[in-house]
Amino acid sequence: MNLIFEISEPGKRCATIRKPDVGKVSIGKKYLRSEKLDLPEVSEVDFARHYTALSRRAFGVDNGFYPLGSCTMKYNPKINEEVAGLEGFTQIHPLQPESTVQGALEVMETLSGYLAEITGMDAVTLQPNAGAHGEYTGLQLIAAYHAARKDYKRTKVIVPDSAHGTNPASAVMAGFEIINVPSDEEKGVDLKALKEVVGEDTAALMLTNPTTLGLFEKNIKAISKIIHDAGGLLYYDGANLNAVMGIVRPGDMGFDVVHLNLHKTFSTPHGGGGPGSGPVGCKKELAAFLPGPLVAKNARGVYKFTESRKSIGKVASFYGNFGVYVRALAYIVTLGAEGIKSCAQHAVLNANYLKANIEDLYPTEKGRHCMHEFVVSMQELKDKTGVSAMDIAKTMIDRGYHPPTMYFPLIIHEALMFEPTETENKRTLDEVIKALREIYEEAFKDPEYMKAAPHHAQIGRPDEVKAARTPIVRYVKP
Ligand SMILES: *Cc1c(COP(=O)(O)O)cnc(C)c1O
Repeated sequence: MNLIFEISEPGKRCATIRKPDVGKVSIGKKYLRSEKLDLPEVSEVDFARHYTALSRRAFGVDNGFYPLGSCTMKYNPKINEEVAGLEGFTQIHPLQPESTVQGALEVMETLSGYLAEITGMDAVTLQPNAGAHGEYTGLQLIAAYHAARKDYKRTKVIVPDSAHGTNPASAVMAGFEIINVPSDEEKGVDLKALKEVVGEDTAALMLTNPTTLGLFEKNIKAISKIIHDAGGLLYYDGANLNAVMGIVRPGDMGFDVVHLNLHKTFSTPHGGGGPGSGPVGCKKELAAFLPGPLVAKNARGVYKFTESRKSIGKVASFYGNFGVYVRALAYIVTLGAEGIKSCAQHAVLNANYLKANIEDLYPTEKGRHCMHEFVVSMQELKDKTGVSAMDIAKTMIDRGYHPPTMYFPLIIHEALMFEPTETENKRTLDEVIKALREIYEEAFKDPEYMKAAPHHAQIGRPDEVKAARTPIVRYVKP
């Protein structure tokens, strides 16, 4: 397929712009471009065909089943897009006086309140623009909390070996040293190992619950006690709240700080690096350190920006990704408390239904119900047939499905992580179960064919290391 620059022809136009009815204004030479802007020149029909062709080459939740574990690729109601597109939300400027954007401030204050309620926290900032950004912000809060108490020895953050890669990365970025704790037999935090590493230098423990294996950390109360008794704090990676929202709250489990991924759980389409939002909630002891400004309603019902003197400062330009807040609020208000709980119940039900119907062929943690996702190990199949988790994922593409997450978490060999989400119905799940069972049989019948999959996709197997190390993200004239 050609790039739009390659079908460009001088003089072609998509639109005709009317002659302006105002005179030319000089803005000064230093603001003027010295070279002509290099834009593609195409007709409207070429333009329409180019982008339609591109959209067909992409795969999204609106195309089909997308069980990418730990990413919650669920269907996002289109009405929330319409709400976020309303003029009153899109045609405002972040520098407008507060009195002229009371509605926008009400959205922020109301959403913060709901997120605090859902997580069991006392205060929330909406500012961070992604989950990892939320982690970094939350860890800065923890650093500020210890510093304010003149407790300067706390330089270490404990991270379980099943953690999402962003956890240790964020902790290092925030200036901490990482201590790894292994998992026990039940794939939870090994309490004995935890007791050995916790101490006066512990700033915090970062935990995902349910873990990245989709299992609920049963010992969370004991873990919370061990960390708090040592003077440390508990950080909750709430990127995947889908399994527990409306049912159990991080604040009640003993966590002090939490981030959420609005772009996973609360109705913003994601993937491809689109706008995200990773709000951070905390208990009242840490609230004074939150990035400012926050929005508060005064006694006269007027919304105002406020900022604590102890704030760690801004972490994003202006107020973060406002459009994502509107979608999240629309989603929460539409569902209500019962609807949110029902989402979580169905997310867990769907994951367990899929798991129960494939686990004889796709082995997973035995004897446990999973939460919103589960991880299978294809090591045995690989030993028998040479077909790897990667080959299964690539074969799923030929069947019209997005692959699950591969080779994560690292503690499971030949891992595939399935997260079907609550928005899939039984018919779809049954089709997927049938396909996965057939794929398993195929591994024995024709392993060579599977090792060369996908056979029907736009591209085969790109060099992943090269794609990551030397990405080509803009057009370069040949
Ligand atoms: C997605 C995810 C993150 C990171 O979120 P980003 O928005 O991609 O930065 C962190 N932790 C877990 C468990 C996740 O699934």
